[in-house]
Amino acid sequence: MIDFQLTEEQIALREKARKFAIEEILPVSQKYDKSGEFPRPVYEKAFKAGLMNLGIPKEYGGSGYGSLESVLVVEEIAAADPGIATSMYANDLGAEPIVLAGTDEQKRKFLTPLTKELKFIAFATSEPGMGSDVAGIQATSERKGDEYVLNGNKFWITNGDVASYYVIFARLKGTKRHEGLCAFVVPRESEGLSTGKPLEKLGHRASDTGAVILRNVHVPVENRLGDEGIGFLLAMGTFMHTRPAIGAFATGLARSAMEYAINYAKQREAFEHKISSFQAIQQMVADMYARVEAMRLLTWRAAWLIDKGDKDANTAASIAKLVGAEDAMKIATDALQVYGGRGYLENYRIAKLFRDAKLFQIYEGTSQVQRYVISRYLFKDYEPIMKGF
Ligand SMILES: Cc1cc2nc3c(=O)[nH]c(=O)nc-3n(C[C@H](O)[C@H](O)[C@H](O)COP(=O)(O)OP(=O)(O)OC[C@H]3O[C@@H](n4cnc5c(N)ncnc54)[C@H](O)[C@@H]3O)c2cc1C
Repeated sequence: MIDFQLTEEQIALREKARKFAIEEILPVSQKYDKSGEFPRPVYEKAFKAGLMNLGIPKEYGGSGYGSLESVLVVEEIAAADPGIATSMYANDLGAEPIVLAGTDEQKRKFLTPLTKELKFIAFATSEPGMGSDVAGIQATSERKGDEYVLNGNKFWITNGDVASYYVIFARLKGTKRHEGLCAFVVPRESEGLSTGKPLEKLGHRASDTGAVILRNVHVPVENRLGDEGIGFLLAMGTFMHTRPAIGAFATGLARSAMEYAINYAKQREAFEHKISSFQAIQQMVADMYARVEAMRLLTWRAAWLIDKGDKDANTAASIAKLVGAEDAMKIATDALQVYGGRGYLENYRIAKLFRDAKLFQIYEGTSQVQRYVISRYLFKDYEPIMKGF
């Protein structure tokens, strides 16, 4: 049976996130976007309110929410500020490989501290020379007795400069492509690990993004997640769990862009009429609303499939991410158009949402990569109902 009704607990959780977003994030959003300063005080409050580390299981001190609860929260936070939301939920991206492949001991050692006080954990596959092609990772790991020695440069790492732990993906020396990838939890204080300056970005400016440099970093064997060589599958499994959240980011951003456009159109006049009376504007906002509803449904469905452990969850996660990213960009563009010239000014929130929307088409797999995942399913596993051609 299909049921779109949220439980009372889910509704209460969404209300809590919405209230937090409106009261604690919205008032400081422009300030942090302008300064590029890391909004630690906001995260301290979010942490205390139980709105971070959503996917860490209860037995390790986390909220133990399912994917569906997570996307409900993420939509609300992103509706207020997608950039602040990115660094807030990068902790779930960083924690996910440990949730998926960590031993009980590793979970206690690395997940529990994240739930005791505000700490960040960063996820690092990308490098200066590769992002989409995860099998092309160049960072190396070499086993020496009870340790691995890690070398390489990670780039674009969300919370790179503020994290206490990094999940570093690196290949065993001498291996090629998918076969030799491993994942390691690396504490920040490890000798030989350094971070670059935060990058200046088009959008999501409150979120920290930067380089993580590894020079002969010694990591104990017990920090390796899973067996040697599972790194590629672990990265893909992680993305399956986190891509619906990008659908939720996109839904939150698009919803706010649509609402601002409606509010503006109701009071702006041109040709002696409110612009909301023009069919061109009405058609645009109708399209926006239809798309927001569709994005949310795809996101919820992907999250629901993940929570059920369904075999179609991976494709559904890519669809939620792809449609969310593409529609958020389109809605932000159209919403800005409703503002006319004012939309081009930084003192209106729509300009920021327009800049922020672009990232959804890029990180956690570009839109082209999502299409690749979906088309691979269609040509390999999809069972056509119509035979012949
Ligand atoms: C703000 C920000 C935060 C990020 N945070 C993180 C993080 O926390 N951790 C992390 O590991 N990474 C992170 N990334 C990196 C991000 O995941 C990569 O930028 C992304 O995967 C794209 O990789 P790339 O930049 O190397 O582009 P490339 O892989 O070089 O791609 C360039 C272009 O080619 C296209 N392309 C590539 N391969 C194909 C193909 N097979 N078919 C069709 N088109 C293709 C791409 O779609 C893109 O349009 C972040 C990036 C940004 C901008």
